[in-house]
Amino acid sequence: MTTRRHFLQKAGLTTLALSLPFSDSIAQAMGQEPKVLRVAIMGLGSYGARVADAMKDCSRAKLVGVISGTPSKIEQWQQKYSIPAQNCYSYDNVAEIKNNKDIDAVYVITPNALHKEHTIALAKAGKHVICEKPMAVNAREGQEMIAACKAAGVQLLIGYRMHFEANTLDIVKKQRAGEFGKTLFFQGLSGFIIGDPSQWRLNKALSGGGAMMDIGVYSINGARYMLGEDPIWVTAQETKTDPIKFKEGIDETITFQMGFPSGATASCLSTYSLNYLDKFFLSGTKGFAEMQPSTGYGPIKAKTHSGPLEHTHVTHQTTQMDEMAAIILDGKQPLIPVDGEEGLKDMHIVDAIFKAVKTGQKVSIPK
Ligand code: NAD
Repeated sequence: MTTRRHFLQKAGLTTLALSLPFSDSIAQAMGQEPKVLRVAIMGLGSYGARVADAMKDCSRAKLVGVISGTPSKIEQWQQKYSIPAQNCYSYDNVAEIKNNKDIDAVYVITPNALHKEHTIALAKAGKHVICEKPMAVNAREGQEMIAACKAAGVQLLIGYRMHFEANTLDIVKKQRAGEFGKTLFFQGLSGFIIGDPSQWRLNKALSGGGAMMDIGVYSINGARYMLGEDPIWVTAQETKTDPIKFKEGIDETITFQMGFPSGATASCLSTYSLNYLDKFFLSGTKGFAEMQPSTGYGPIKAKTHSGPLEHTHVTHQTTQMDEMAAIILDGKQPLIPVDGEEGLKDMHIVDAIFKAVKTGQKVSIPK
């Protein structure tokens, strides 16, 4: 059987082509441009704007449409990103996107509690969906989203930008190659001081929870990719210093512990009341890895027992969107998954953490 390398070498292609996704390489061999994922953003808030700016530097993904409830924002975005009027939708007429052949995928960047409804509506309209983290407000909703996308024959990806970040991938590869020996401990610290008490992040109906849903999920997700396994139990403790700002159902600070099949444990902190908390530490029998900052917008700083890692900073969302285009268009398999099942694993853990806080008991996580 002709291998990809042989095929490309026969075709006289360069080392650059060999590093590209297969269909890109074929496209290049045939003198064609690789396919570009045409994306609409739903939710033109602060993170949506960050993604839109980052996409200007993408080679495989292009911002071509918007969905928003605010006509003035649509106008501004149309001008800034040259978006044609026929690719602009409101939440009321978004079902019509079904007939738009110029949009392949929609990136849902709305408040957490709206992700399910928005994702299902877009799947029914036949569009691939990239949905921000947390994928939903609980595992049941996550399952419904996965089922809807499967039924519609569209892909569902979760906006885990760190899964494509160079330092993160370097450490994950080293861990998988056994460079740290048997990794038995992970520490994840995730937090910032939240401002404006009237924002949706502090309103359970829109956020589904407090710091855990927003920032704690980074430690949950990080523990899983750094240790390379999924937890089987959690314990958790909640503290609250400001019950006015952090109302019922909005967690201010939760410390939690996770246990893994190998015997490894993770000890994590999620909070809305401390700054400078963005640190991962992985300890093994032969070495360690440390990242601080570990999940912010970068540059990420990482070191191992062998010294600092030196990776050039690239805007996370630019890499993410190019890689997600390759996943959707070429079937590329990322080293750390970003599909709906990956998001669902985190939702099961969030559910278990909230249950552990409530009951004071150790809670098992369903497989
Ligand atoms: P934001 O408040 O800045 O933007 C939210 C957008 O949703 C606004 O444009 C708002 O108008 C719109 N919206 C639609 N329906 C709404 C409703 N009923 N109520 C309130 N707003 C409504 O928030 P954000 O920081 O952009 O966060 C949006 C999502 O992105 C969240 O799920 C968040 O967790 C995620 N996020 C991810 C990252 C990351 O690094 N991956 C970073 C920030 C935010």
